[in-house]
Amino acid sequence: MRAMVMTRRAPETRLRQQLVQFGHLCYERHLLVGLDGNLSVRLTDSLVLATRAGVHKGLMTADDLVVVDLAGRKLRGQGQPTSEMAMHLACYRERPDVEAVVHAHPPTAVAFTIAGLSLARCVLPEVVLTLGTVPTLPYATTGTTDLAEAVGAAAARHDALLLDRHGAVCLGTSVEDAFCKLETLEHLALIMKAARDLGGIQDLPTEEALRLRRMGLARYGGPPAAVAAAGAPMADLPDACQACSGCGNPRTDGLAPPAGFSLARLTRA
Ligand SMILES: [Zn+2]
Repeated sequence: MRAMVMTRRAPETRLRQQLVQFGHLCYERHLLVGLDGNLSVRLTDSLVLATRAGVHKGLMTADDLVVVDLAGRKLRGQGQPTSEMAMHLACYRERPDVEAVVHAHPPTAVAFTIAGLSLARCVLPEVVLTLGTVPTLPYATTGTTDLAEAVGAAAARHDALLLDRHGAVCLGTSVEDAFCKLETLEHLALIMKAARDLGGIQDLPTEEALRLRRMGLARYGGPPAAVAAAGAPMADLPDACQACSGCGNPRTDGLAPPAGFSLARLTRA
């Protein structure tokens, strides 16, 4: 049994405002459309406040929220919990350190999954530093326990996940934190697409990616399992490299930079 994290939480009225504010931002930033996606936040260690099923995230109000327990039973609120609630609850059960979960359908990131291209590459230093890498989970039918279980398992090691042909799940210490990870993920996808269009994506040398990731885990923290693995030969990057479809990084064996890449070359560029 994991120890619960002692957290000073905002009052429910404030948490409701935050879900509404970031639901609107998800819509305005084109990270979802219409009824897509869902946002949630812990009210207590065992209760979650979440967007109800069938609400437009650009129009939602503080009344469009339901309170559920970690088993998914609705306790308060009008309407029903979203069919994707199980995915959120799997994250909360797996990660006592997580206070909020945002699920959206960021278009460029989802397009990468449809094209069979991985975002789990060490490309942007600040993303490696703060987020590590973003794995793509194999296709699973939306709203099923299969998908929820896969999300919970991956959430043990990652704060941002991509679901094949579907969307993203981002975990945070607050609604704002989870939303920022979602924005970062889509921004990464946009930059990777632009680089690909301009001639190709060049990964950071493995040694530099490792240095950044270890710095990030020490400075900003992350999933407890990733923090615990920070001293391992590839920190928490091997998972990402196993999921990667295109880069020249070694998988779990060896630390040599990919052929043709060097820090000197990067700093001259
Ligand atoms: Zn979805």
